[in-house]
Amino acid sequence: MKLHETMLNTLPDWEERITLTDEEIGDEHISTSVDTPMRADAFAISDEEKKARIEFHFRQIMETLGLDLRDDSLKGTPKRVAKMYVEEIFSGLNPANKPSVALFENKYEYNGMLIEKDIAFYSNCEHHFVPIIGKAHVAYISSGQVIGLSKLNRIVQYFAKRPQVQERLTMQIARELQRVLGTEDIAVLIDAKHLCVSSRGIKDDSSSTVTSYFGGAFTKDGAKQEFMSCIGLGK
Ligand SMILES: [Zn+2]
Repeated sequence: MKLHETMLNTLPDWEERITLTDEEIGDEHISTSVDTPMRADAFAISDEEKKARIEFHFRQIMETLGLDLRDDSLKGTPKRVAKMYVEEIFSGLNPANKPSVALFENKYEYNGMLIEKDIAFYSNCEHHFVPIIGKAHVAYISSGQVIGLSKLNRIVQYFAKRPQVQERLTMQIARELQRVLGTEDIAVLIDAKHLCVSSRGIKDDSSSTVTSYFGGAFTKDGAKQEFMSCIGLGK
């Protein structure tokens, strides 16, 4: 068990693990660990109970904003949001939803790199709870086993369906691919737009954020360049 996971299980409360104040974090997009910070009691209640609580609290938010929830258009929103949070956009918080991965023997003896590019994903910024919209490009070099292509997409989608920062999303995908494929030879590059940057705050609509992880053979120039040129970012 890694250090931060041990800490997660021994410290009673989330607040006690935070070492930065909200003012220090401000609008900066920093992440505190590779693992998503989760409470030890994260799954002590059922999904049904979570939806009921979120519905209740979201109604409070809407009413606090002054909205009249007797309006036909608004009255179903708290329930809709709760269902969407638990079953869809934050379903990747629950390890029970992690895609199971079947590996196949590399019978073709293909030993080049396999690149799955332009995997479109939607995530949400954990600092503002507004969308991150992007594309992930992932690659691996087989260590003797191969993975079904759709599983690469599913792994990206699973980690995207959490409140995220892009750096952590990149690392979580890379680490999971290394684990399931049993190789260090993994590359992950993510190019994404953060709506908290483009639609509010600094209101920069043209920038996007690129993060990358290169492991094993991809730390060497040849493999890294092949990957980068294949996804259209190389020389
Ligand atoms: Zn944000």
